[in-house]
Amino acid sequence: PVSVGPAARRPTRGVTVRWGDKAVRVGGGAPVVVQSMTNTDTADAVATAIQVKELALAGSELVRITVNTPEAAREVPAIREQLDRMGVSVPLVGDFHYNGHKLLSQFPECAQALSKYRINPGNMGGGKKRDDNFAQMIEIAARYQKPVRIGVNWGSLDHELMARMMDENSRRTQPWTAQAVMRDALVVSAISNARRAEQLGLPGDAIVLSCKVSHVQDLIAVYRDLASRCDYPAHLGLTEAGMGSKGIVASTAALAVLLQEGIGDTIRISLTPEPGGDRTREVVVAQEILQTMGLRAFTPMVVACPGCGRTSSTVFQELADSIQSYLRRQMPVWKTRYPGVETMNVAVMGCVVNGPGESRHADIGISLPGTGEVPSAPVYIDGERTVTLKGDHIASEFQAIVENYVER
Ligand code: SF4
Repeated sequence: PVSVGPAARRPTRGVTVRWGDKAVRVGGGAPVVVQSMTNTDTADAVATAIQVKELALAGSELVRITVNTPEAAREVPAIREQLDRMGVSVPLVGDFHYNGHKLLSQFPECAQALSKYRINPGNMGGGKKRDDNFAQMIEIAARYQKPVRIGVNWGSLDHELMARMMDENSRRTQPWTAQAVMRDALVVSAISNARRAEQLGLPGDAIVLSCKVSHVQDLIAVYRDLASRCDYPAHLGLTEAGMGSKGIVASTAALAVLLQEGIGDTIRISLTPEPGGDRTREVVVAQEILQTMGLRAFTPMVVACPGCGRTSSTVFQELADSIQSYLRRQMPVWKTRYPGVETMNVAVMGCVVNGPGESRHADIGISLPGTGEVPSAPVYIDGERTVTLKGDHIASEFQAIVENYVER
């Protein structure tokens, strides 16, 4: 038979990110971790704590916050305190660029309140200044026993390294394209900075790497290369993925290929929010990528047909939408009360063409009759047809049947 499922996970060192009793393991065979990032002004501690809480409740297992100014750094302990008071133990990751060395040394309480630091070696200055700034951040991370992510980025690649590699490339008999040199430079930058961090005293199992680019094929090539050249855990993400469906599709296309090959220990989906949009969307998308690939389970999955000319009434769409939302709303309680419920499959189908078949394959399913007929929908439980729901209250009655099934 044809083999099904992702390749074995790439063996990586395990990195533990802690806050209090909470320990999130990245790499070392642990399940792929979902993380996200706030978009509030970190200097606004209340707004940031609220958004961190929302992201954590949505399922983000690590939350990154920007630490870009003294005002922001000063508020990080207050954000941590508010979260602790609310019972939100999600570890916070500080995102530093340009002045991280100064902020971490000037605000030791910030350095302590964060559980992990993100360092971008491409924007810490040049030459000796860059080396000193990097060393200062690594020494602080080692002193406070905080893991770091060395996150290099296409848009802020180390200019000196790039210039040197372009120069070396020009002396090749068959020079690579500039794009290929840039991809190589991303990987070289990440790994060489990780090795340097180890030489500076940071343990090798306190380093996560990322090499983010904004094009799908480049990202796949870069991470394949990274994975073949080191065993640091990999943080996957397509940077600047974009808005709406484009951002979701591009991120999924890139990450699915890598995850299928066993590459990737933590993921973040970088979606540009719609104006007034919900930041937790990136968490939901990350979870759905992992769950649809069979790598993790977070919430019961709803199989719903797309609908067609046989489903011209809105009953079908409303039912599918209400069941999906209902299941997600129940999860904070259900996952503690009913372990394993997240692996349940629910089918909501529009008509008899595929409805009974899909409903039988699911743990619990409902098949509507299609257009032009009085709503009358048989329910299937564990493959067996049971009751038939009729009338205007099919959605609420089906919800009650699902709840009863979960309890049983
Ligand atoms: Fe259309 Fe029926 Fe297929 Fe749904 S199951 S897409 S309603 S034919």
